[in-house]
Amino acid sequence: MLSSPDEELRAELRTWLAEHPPPAVDIAATLADAATLRAWQHTLHAGRWVGIHWPVEYGGRGASVTQVAIYNEELARSGAPPLLGRAGITLVGPTLMTHGTERQRAQWMPRILAGDDVWCQLFSEPGAGSDLAALSTRAEQRGSEYRITGQKVWSSYATYADMGIALVRTDPAAAPHKGISMLAIPMDAKGVDVRPLRQMTGDREFNEVFFDDVAVPVANLIGPAHDGWSVANTTLANERGASFIWKEQVLHQIAIDALSKACADRGCTRDSVVRQRLAESWIDVEIFRLHNARTLSRLARGHEIGAESSLVKLFWAGMSQRLSDTAIAVLGPGALLTAGDDAGPEAGRWARGLLSTRANSIMGGTSEIQRNIIGERLLGLPREAR
Ligand SMILES: Cc1cc2nc3c(=O)[nH]c(=O)nc-3n(C[C@H](O)[C@H](O)[C@H](O)COP(=O)(O)OP(=O)(O)OC[C@H]3O[C@@H](n4cnc5c(N)ncnc54)[C@H](O)[C@@H]3O)c2cc1C
Repeated sequence: MLSSPDEELRAELRTWLAEHPPPAVDIAATLADAATLRAWQHTLHAGRWVGIHWPVEYGGRGASVTQVAIYNEELARSGAPPLLGRAGITLVGPTLMTHGTERQRAQWMPRILAGDDVWCQLFSEPGAGSDLAALSTRAEQRGSEYRITGQKVWSSYATYADMGIALVRTDPAAAPHKGISMLAIPMDAKGVDVRPLRQMTGDREFNEVFFDDVAVPVANLIGPAHDGWSVANTTLANERGASFIWKEQVLHQIAIDALSKACADRGCTRDSVVRQRLAESWIDVEIFRLHNARTLSRLARGHEIGAESSLVKLFWAGMSQRLSDTAIAVLGPGALLTAGDDAGPEAGRWARGLLSTRANSIMGGTSEIQRNIIGERLLGLPREAR
């Protein structure tokens, strides 16, 4: 049962969204439409609808976990596009709240909310993904500056980003987890080279980022020098927090409803096998919803989500892939078309889903890594040899 402040927030947001309809951004073209997305974030920010979980003193509304769930639900249902500045809002802001200096918070946080600065996450490297502590991008302190040399990869939205949070090695002699620091890097600094990578969806969401002796003030160090691993843990804990959980659940509910309707419209629900496949996907989404409701109520009572977030991430990745496989199986080959009369009214939607959901079992920690965490930390199985 939702309390009245929660229902009031829902009503306020619904009214606001009716007065400020989200731009109709084609998700397939989302990345080409960065200017529209920035403008949408400006509009949301003017209504105080960006980063509502941030404390009031930092420009948020101090919203509870339940209110964040309501917020994501209403935005998803309104068809609002994803926020271009979401890495700043979900990852950088909370990291600065815990580890940043007063000056860093004052300098960067208001610009993150307003959408004036888009941030990207510069963690992964060609030789350091799952084993992130193996990263080798170097930052040497020289006087009041760090000089950075190395390479990052899979950096989402780096082409649009004004700033990046990077993990860099500042003490090569220390143990892998110990000699790392976190730096904020202006993406227009001399020596930063961003090269987009084309994905199988045709998008250029992620990028290679090269640093050639890039100078960054020591004042851009976030948290203590050489202790960036602990700082990064704050960042990563926010990656799969409450915000992620509920939004994904609502988006999948919308998708299974749309798929069921598309099947009914084409008359394919007369086939019992089609009905079974749809039912399986519907059950997936319902399990996800019930599990998430339990997780959210625990978070609302002040519990940490901890290693259980791996369970959510693993199930979500599989569910999204099963749903897109089902869509193609039940709608038939026409669903693979992106244009033309045979592609049907949702032209390209399901084909795109089939391709884009492959990334879900890789990004934010692969499914194998999630299984390791579940085995070791939730089931108490012997630890993997390291
Ligand atoms: C869409 C997308 C967006 C991304 N955005 C960003 C971003 O913005 N910023 C950023 O820094 N990174 C980003 N990443 C990178 C992502 O974090 C890495 O791809 C991920 O951590 C896996 O690392 P890797 O690709 O180097 O694979 P590897 O770590 O090389 O893994 C290769 C294979 O080996 C398996 N494997 C590795 N270690 C183990 C083990 N110990 N036990 C069992 N199996 C293992 C993996 O599961 C995988 O199947 C993004 C990735 C994707 C797909």
